[in-house]
Amino acid sequence: MKSICVFCGSSMGIRPGYQQGAKELGGILLDRKIKLIYGGANVGLMKVLADTMLAGGGEVIGIMPRRLVENEVAHQGLTKMHIVESMSERKTLMVELSDAFIAMPGGFGTFDELAEVITYNQLRLTDKPIGILNLEHYFDHLLNFFTHTAKEGFLRHEHRNNLIVDENPSELLKKMSLYQPVSIEKWIRDIKEESK
Ligand code: AMP
Repeated sequence: MKSICVFCGSSMGIRPGYQQGAKELGGILLDRKIKLIYGGANVGLMKVLADTMLAGGGEVIGIMPRRLVENEVAHQGLTKMHIVESMSERKTLMVELSDAFIAMPGGFGTFDELAEVITYNQLRLTDKPIGILNLEHYFDHLLNFFTHTAKEGFLRHEHRNNLIVDENPSELLKKMSLYQPVSIEKWIRDIKEESK
């Protein structure tokens, strides 16, 4: 993995573990010379992660819609900033430029980006590893809901289990490096059977 796109909060969250986790992840990406792709903001956990990488001489690429740049939330010190016209264009470019994705704690913006890349993988438009950095067990409820979704028949268990989860950034990266995509053929066959 040469570049990883990280989705994370434009807020800090209330627990110190969130910022600590962002710094730890930044340090590990630096050690491994992995390029960071992210939303480009100078706020919240995004700022903590980007600043950690930049302070250590890492490469940080931001992708931001023009309207957000005009609202002055753009980070001014990045290696490169791509300015796009819409949120959809931003996600498309994030997917294009990245070898893998990590979601850290965040809000709706983070969930939107995470849902986009999960769906891409599910449809096999991409087959890039998606990691969830479960700092402070932030994602437990969401992950339990995904398990519920699979039990209720709206999600394949294989796709649920294809999400890579760990509380520790270096363990998460280790698991992501062993990622195996799920076969679409089986998925399509199952859906056709079920719809008969
Ligand atoms: P949220 O989780 O709702 O705080 O949103 C954070 C995610 O959505 C990030 O991964 C960003 O790519 C995007 N995002 C949301 N708000 C902003 C903002 N003010 N500036 C830049 N990106 C943002």
